[in-house]
Amino acid sequence: MLFADIPGLSAVKEQLIRSAQSGRVSHAQLFLGKEGGGHLALALAYATYLNCKQPGPTDSCGQCESCLKYKKLIHPDLHFSFPFIRSEKEKEHTVADTYLKPWRELWAQTCFFTPNEWMLRLSAENKQGNITVNECQNIIRKLSLSAFEAAFKVLIIWQPELLGTTGNVLLKIVEEPPPKTLFLFVAEDEERILSTIRSRLLLVKVPRISTPDLTAWLVENQSLPEEQAHSLALVSEGNIAQANRLLKEEVDLNEQLFTDWMRKCFLKENARDLSQWVEIVAGLGREKQKNLLNYSLHMLRECLMYRYGTPEHVNLIGSELEFVKKFSPFIDHKKLNVMARSIEQSIFYIERNVNSKLIFHTLSFDIERQLKGGTPQA
Ligand SMILES: [Zn+2]
Repeated sequence: MLFADIPGLSAVKEQLIRSAQSGRVSHAQLFLGKEGGGHLALALAYATYLNCKQPGPTDSCGQCESCLKYKKLIHPDLHFSFPFIRSEKEKEHTVADTYLKPWRELWAQTCFFTPNEWMLRLSAENKQGNITVNECQNIIRKLSLSAFEAAFKVLIIWQPELLGTTGNVLLKIVEEPPPKTLFLFVAEDEERILSTIRSRLLLVKVPRISTPDLTAWLVENQSLPEEQAHSLALVSEGNIAQANRLLKEEVDLNEQLFTDWMRKCFLKENARDLSQWVEIVAGLGREKQKNLLNYSLHMLRECLMYRYGTPEHVNLIGSELEFVKKFSPFIDHKKLNVMARSIEQSIFYIERNVNSKLIFHTLSFDIERQLKGGTPQA
C-alpha cells in the first residue's frame, strides 16, 4: 500500500513521513477516522513506508521485497487483528489469523471497506464480531517472537472499539512492547476504546477526504467522467466505501439496461418492448441517462477492441466480458462511429432538456439501423 493509492489527506501523509524520516516513531498509535475513510489504508501505507528498503521522500518504493510482500499482506512481520465471528466448530481455537484468506481477498478488492462489509465477507450479516481473549493472547504470542526480516514488526488492530475489557490483556505489551514493535490501532469511535488502552496511544487524526480529492481519485481509479465523479464524491461525503457501493449499483443498473437495450434493438422484438425500455430510461433523470449513455459508449468501444485482436486490453470480467464476447462480431469501425456520433448527440440533447422519450426512441432507431445494416466489415 502506497500513500499515493489513498486520495488526498496530504497533511497527515506528510506528518507520518516526517516522523518516519526523523526516526521518531511512536510505538503505539491510534489512526482515527470516519467510516469508509482513509485511516485503515493510511496505517498500512505508513507501515509499508517504515519497512521499505528504498523509501523516497514522499512514498515507499513499491518495488523492494518488503513493499511487494506488504502489498500482498504476506510479510512475516506484518500482523493483523480484527473482529471475527467465532465459529461453533472451531470455538476457542479461532483467532483473526484463521480468517487471513478472506481478509486478504477483501483488501485485494478495496482498501476502503467498512466493518459491515467485512462481516458480509464472513457471511455474518447484521452480526457484530469480536476481538476475543484468545485473540489477544495470540497477539502477545506472535509479537514476542523476534522480527524475522523487517525494520519494524507491525500489528494493525482494526476496530479496537470491540476489544472491551478483554483489551486489558494487551495493556502490558502495548506499554512495554518488544523492541522494534509497532502497534497501529485503527478506529472510528475514540470514546468506545478502553480508556486504559486509549491513554497509551499517540493520536493520528485522519480527516475526511475532501470532495475535490475524492473526485480526482474516482476519475483516475474508476475511469469516471469528471462530472459524474464530482456528484458521486459530493453524495459520498468522503466515504470511499459509500462511493464504491453507489458506483457498483449504478454500473449494475447500467449493465442491465444496456444489454437489454442492445438485445431489443438487435433482435427486433416488438415495438412495445422497446417502448417499455424507453419509459424506464426516461424516468431515470438526466444525470443517470447521461451515465447510461457514457457506459454504452464504453461497452461498444470494448466490443470493437475485443473484435480487432486486442482482447487483452479489454478490462472487463464476468457478465460484462461475456456480453462483449458475444456482441463484438456485430460491431465494426464504421458502425461504431455512426452509433457513437448518435449517442454523443443524444447526450448533447439531454443536457439541453430535450424530451427524453423522443431522444431515446430516435437513438434506438439509429442503433437498430446500424446493428442490422448488413454484415460488419472484417
Ligand atoms: Zn520499498
